[in-house]
Amino acid sequence: MKGTPDIRSFTREELELALKAAGQPAFRGRQIYEWLWQKGARSFDQMSNLPLALREELKQTYTFNGTVVETLQKSMDGTIKCSFRLHDGKLIEGVLIPTKRVTACVSSQVGCSLDCKFCATGFLKRERNLEAAEIFDQVWLLNELALEHYGRKLDNIVYMGMGEPLLNYANVMRSIDLLTHPDNTNISPQRITVSTAGIVKMIKAMADTEPRFNLALSLHAATDEKRSAIMPINDTNNLEMLAEAMGYWYEKTHTRPTLEYVVIENVNDTEEEMEELASFAAKFPCKINLIEYNPISQASYYPTSKDNLEAFASGLEKRHLIVNVRRSRGKDIDAACGQLVNKVDN
Ligand code: SAH
Repeated sequence: MKGTPDIRSFTREELELALKAAGQPAFRGRQIYEWLWQKGARSFDQMSNLPLALREELKQTYTFNGTVVETLQKSMDGTIKCSFRLHDGKLIEGVLIPTKRVTACVSSQVGCSLDCKFCATGFLKRERNLEAAEIFDQVWLLNELALEHYGRKLDNIVYMGMGEPLLNYANVMRSIDLLTHPDNTNISPQRITVSTAGIVKMIKAMADTEPRFNLALSLHAATDEKRSAIMPINDTNNLEMLAEAMGYWYEKTHTRPTLEYVVIENVNDTEEEMEELASFAAKFPCKINLIEYNPISQASYYPTSKDNLEAFASGLEKRHLIVNVRRSRGKDIDAACGQLVNKVDN
């Protein structure tokens, strides 16, 4: 019902207390909790072991803000992009990437407030944060699609869809708690990566939490002048502050964060810029992912040549850094990094 709270906004304890207060036997709260987080129910009617009268009562007392798959596109390389319709009609996108492992890429906000010049999502307005349940739904639905399309479950989850996860900190952390909880989907935190454009305060807060998931920093330029030009967030969260926060992350978690670096022609792809990246990366233990740039219609940036990408990678390796080159996937359906804007070609 409108105006009533979403049943999935409560913790297990809160639910159990509320059901008890409504005169229900003690096990009802647990039963409902199981439907929500272990069986992935998306309506009260699915809760078949609850008496009909209770299901009706729940419908009067709570809303159920479910998420549904609105559209699905499959790329020539097997990558699947979905748009999800949220309970208030808004759309977000998630991507399923089948390589050796199956990775689900999920959104954390509707739109984004950060304005990165090379990213299509950056050209959207930030409309709102996603609830933890809406992040959970994306993972649940993408897992069902992985089983259907690839015959296997998800292996990894990356918070690299639309939005800035660390500007929706509480809900993102709750979604990780829900996904990793042994009673629920029980996904190992080591299979989860949160990617941030670099919100220093939140990186430090996250370093102090359990469980231990992976962190990726979208770096893309290693001098303040160049980084601020393409990522305005750098004005308030500069490289010196970021290096300190990343060092703190490593100190607390003993896991190497990843630096993501999209190599863009004439923006950040010279030998000098490779050296700037190498000196930044030398400040704390880390890994580097070099990412092929995906052109977007909103900006005139182009990927660096394949040869230059290789040269960039080997330059970093020579400086004893751990480097991976990430080829773009799902480009033909605008599912690649930075291409998520709720556009469907028909
Ligand atoms: N806001 C978070 C989460 C989004 S992750 C963050 O910035 O990390 C999306 C990743 O794709 C980021 O590393 C982003 O910088 C990168 N990206 C954005 N636009 C891209 C593009 N056009 N081509 C390749 N990567 C892009």
